[in-house]
This record gives sequence, structure tokens and C-alpha cells, in this order.
Amino acid sequence: MFISIRGRVLLNAEALNMTESVGNYVKHRRAPIMLRENDGGYAVYFAPAISGESIAHGLQVLLAEKAKENKLPVCSLCEKGIFLKSSDKKVLEASLGRNVDDKDVEATIIKECTVEDIGGFLYAEKKANVKRTSNFYTGYMIPTFEALKNSVIEPQLHSRYALGTKFVKDQGQMLYYVEISSAVYCFSLDLDTRYIGRLTFDVDRAGDLVLSDEERKSRINTLLEAVKTFLLENSYGAKKTRFLPVSSWESMVISISDKTWTVPSPFASSYIENAEKKREKISFNTELHVFREGSFEQFVVDTLDAVGKRVS
Ligand SMILES: [Zn+2]
Repeated sequence: MFISIRGRVLLNAEALNMTESVGNYVKHRRAPIMLRENDGGYAVYFAPAISGESIAHGLQVLLAEKAKENKLPVCSLCEKGIFLKSSDKKVLEASLGRNVDDKDVEATIIKECTVEDIGGFLYAEKKANVKRTSNFYTGYMIPTFEALKNSVIEPQLHSRYALGTKFVKDQGQMLYYVEISSAVYCFSLDLDTRYIGRLTFDVDRAGDLVLSDEERKSRINTLLEAVKTFLLENSYGAKKTRFLPVSSWESMVISISDKTWTVPSPFASSYIENAEKKREKISFNTELHVFREGSFEQFVVDTLDAVGKRVS
């Protein structure tokens, strides 16, 4: 089963993905975006962005949490939100708390860590390299076409007040700047359940089941629970203790298909129509669920219930 999610979300006064800090100045992430201009040429805009890594981190934190709740295995690093992902033998053995044979690394990790089964890993050892590609796909959130030229990044001044204390000389009136941004952002997330619980790396054994059907289903359902909470609670980005964005979803399309079928990019305002047109031409038993107005929460709950029905 392949689930494709595309949406547009208005985020005001957000600092969800910061990059470097230079002295007392903290910068928002920017990405170069190329746009076709009216004269047929192209121009590049540097726009505020939220990285796919940041989205993947948020989703995997929830996945670890839901997996623990559902009594599915999670390694001791992923369960704390530390996604070193079996990067070498030392990390792997520390995360599983025992010695591991180099021979069957992928099967061992699939069995013992739901997060790495679904989110992939890269085991880089001299004698045995194993790469497992993530079963979900996401990317940069960038402003939509109409919002791009009007999206803003603005440094906000903050100060820490210490007047009247003996600390004023060293620490008083400390000034710092945090860049905040406001834009309508594109959101993309695809889930491919095909290889969850199956080997992928060794060409002779790719596709072989490591888990039982029952275990596979419960991992897929756990992933869906994580996605549901992720969308309902906007569980991406950082710096939310003092820069919690004012946000609202403007639209979303979720497709459910038997095989790879992605919803067209929400960069264009016509993406919902584009998705409907695409389905008329190509369909792998493809269902489209569309949110344009009304209750976003109800849409997410209803749609993910529909996905769950196709799992069972
Ligand atoms: Zn893990």
C-alpha cells in the first residue's frame, strides 16, 4: 500500500528550523527556489524553509513513542529520540545491549527496532556495509507559489532583564535576535508499506519476510497512528517552547493506492485538481481524500481510519 500526503499550511511567526547562530543572532533556514519569470527566464529566490530531516525527526519520535505504547520493539537509542540508527557496530551493540553477528545485520535490526525497520538505517562497517532505505519519504517545506514572493524572514529582538541585581554587569540586558518567518508552506509525506518487515539489501533475498503478517500489520498500524498524531499536533520543527507558531492547514490531499502513486506538488494552487486529473489517467485502486474546508481534525481522523481499513 502507498499513502501520499500533500498539503498547504499557513505558519505565522515560526522559528521551526534554525540553522547557525552567529554571536547573538540565530538564523532561520533558507532554501534557493527557482521560479519562471514572465519574460521566460528564471530567477532564484532565497525563501524560508523547514528541512525534510526536521520532519522525519518529528515523525520518528512519534513512531518510537507509539511503538512502545503498542509493545513493539524499539532499540534503546531510538526510544530516546536519538537516531544514530546502527551507524556502526559499536552503536548497534550499544543500542541493542548485546553482541551482534555481522552476518545478518538487516534482519536483526528489522526484528529489534520498529523505527529503523520503517525509517531505514546505514550500517557502515569496514567488513559489512548495510543500507536500508526509509519506507517513508518527505522533503523541504517551502513557501507555495503564491506565497513565495511575499514570505518574510524577520529578526526579532529579545532581551533578558537583570537590572537591579548584582548580575547586571555580566549578564544583564543580554540582547539576542531570533529570525522568525511567516509563509504558506508546502508539505509532503509519502508512506510505502511494501518493505516494512522485509529484507531489502541483499539482492538475492530482497523482499523476504523477516516478520509475521500479524507483526507487519501492527507496525503499519503503528506508523499510521504516528502520522495521525503528527498531522493533528503539527509535530515537526523545533524551538516551540517560546516560538510556537500560529498555524492552520489550508488544504490537504491524501491518496491511498495499491502501488506507488504520489499526489502532485502543492506548490501549485491547482494541486487538488491535478491530483483528480492524474487519477483519471492512472489509478492503482487509488482513493483520494481531499480537505478544503471544515474540520481538519475530522478529515485526518476519517482518512487515516480509511487507510487502516485497507491494511486489514
Ligand atoms: Zn533503533
